[in-house]
Amino acid sequence: RPTDDVELAVDGLVKRFGGITAVDGATFEVESGSMTGLIGPNGAGKSTTFNCITGIHEPDAGTVTFQGEDITGIRPYQCAEYGLVRTFQIAREMANMTVLENLMLPAKRQRGEALWRSVLPVTRREVVREERELLERVWDSLEFFEIQHLAEEKAGTLSGGQRKLLELARALMTDPEMLLLDEPFAGVNPTLEKKLLEHVHDLREEGYTFLIVEHDMDLIMENCERVIVMHQGSVLAEGAPGAITSNERVIEAYLGG
Ligand code: ADP
Ligand code: MG
Repeated sequence: RPTDDVELAVDGLVKRFGGITAVDGATFEVESGSMTGLIGPNGAGKSTTFNCITGIHEPDAGTVTFQGEDITGIRPYQCAEYGLVRTFQIAREMANMTVLENLMLPAKRQRGEALWRSVLPVTRREVVREERELLERVWDSLEFFEIQHLAEEKAGTLSGGQRKLLELARALMTDPEMLLLDEPFAGVNPTLEKKLLEHVHDLREEGYTFLIVEHDMDLIMENCERVIVMHQGSVLAEGAPGAITSNERVIEAYLGG
């Protein structure tokens, strides 16, 4: 890699919506293999920053660099090819599909097999082998998240917490290197939250990089080794949790709303 330890670098990011400047020069780096928290009061620009990184919005200014490569303004579908994914809420059309089907889909789409399928003759045996391999990966994922028993359930019938597990599992099926999680614990009961956190820690041990937006400050402080604080579209402070919780400007930003 050209830049050793930096997985993701955001530099001078700006995003405006009409008269609102949602992101106003945000600049920060996320270290490879780290679990970094992105916090800040409501409306600070955290979600918009995620959307700019993953190509949902095109930034008005600034750059996004992933693993040393400029990915500013890439299309959302290209993100997964780079190894950068964010979790998405289970869309309405996914709700009627089973958990198993939900996990099969992203992996299939990612392989882009349609192209070579159309120009090369493929034997039935090859198709069967690939389907079996995919199914094995999906089953491994179900086991990892301990949701095998939900395999045949429609995604729409899952509880809030189970849905969050599925969203994370889906993102992992694209074989990413870095995951962006926007409020992954919202609406999750404490038992499942603990489980979800354990999974995130396990994945981190495996070398995945995490950037997590989360409302619950204590949760971020306890689980992330670095914290970035956004306020009014730019970075107010960053550092170790201890330094952040005692930072006057951070306290003021939160109290001042
Ligand atoms: P956060 O995730 O930190 O709560 P957001 O990034 O969602 O903050 O929002 C930052 C600001 O941008 C807010 O004032 C919000 O109303 C505005 N905003 C976000 N998305 C849009 C949009 N699609 N159109 C117009 N304004 C938006
Ligand atoms: Mg948000």
